[in-house]
Amino acid sequence: MADPKKKGKAEGPVSYDPSFSKEVFEKVDYGEKIKMCMQCGVCAASCPLSMVMDYSPRKIFALIRAGKRSEVLSSKAIMLCTSCYSCKVRCPRKVPVVDVMHGLANYALKQGYVPREETALFGREFWKQILRLGRIDEKDLPRRYFFSKGIIPGIKKSMELADMGIVLMLHKRMKLLPERSVKGIKELRKMLEKASAMGNGGA
Ligand code: SF4
Ligand code: SF4
Repeated sequence: MADPKKKGKAEGPVSYDPSFSKEVFEKVDYGEKIKMCMQCGVCAASCPLSMVMDYSPRKIFALIRAGKRSEVLSSKAIMLCTSCYSCKVRCPRKVPVVDVMHGLANYALKQGYVPREETALFGREFWKQILRLGRIDEKDLPRRYFFSKGIIPGIKKSMELADMGIVLMLHKRMKLLPERSVKGIKELRKMLEKASAMGNGGA
């Protein structure tokens, strides 16, 4: 078994582990469902976070089949999945993509992989937006994430992805106007804050 990358950084030479797909099928929750994937790419096109993931769900499944253990278990993608279910409801082969992504994330954590700092940064921005709106604004979250690393990296990344943003808006996959908070946001905030306190060892 390959060494876990404790900081989630890429290894030197790309490792090929032919036993990895078997390991995933047997040990990862829902891992055997990957066998049904026909690599059509619908999940990749449906995923609102594909622009900040290093690999799309489709690519993750291809990497598993190719035995790329380190690339998969240290990927940002498996840690960033927000359970929006877009992939699962659209997959023509009924692959429970979201469940596999979470299964992989849990397995990676058990194997000693830890989320990269930038993944943790994204998680913090995600949490702040849920507390503010009760939902995710697909334009605002990546923007906040990019600019949390500084103004210059934020402008650079925004310019790199501007074309993709325009295409998503033209195809109505992203709204032009800001998202409004959900109904009952105050009650939701109280629940989330209580859950957070319990997660930190509170009552
Ligand atoms: S949509 Fe389903 S079949 Fe298509 S690539 Fe994704 S998981 Fe595979
Ligand atoms: S459930 Fe996860 S992988 Fe699937 S579309 Fe949503 S964020 Fe992407």
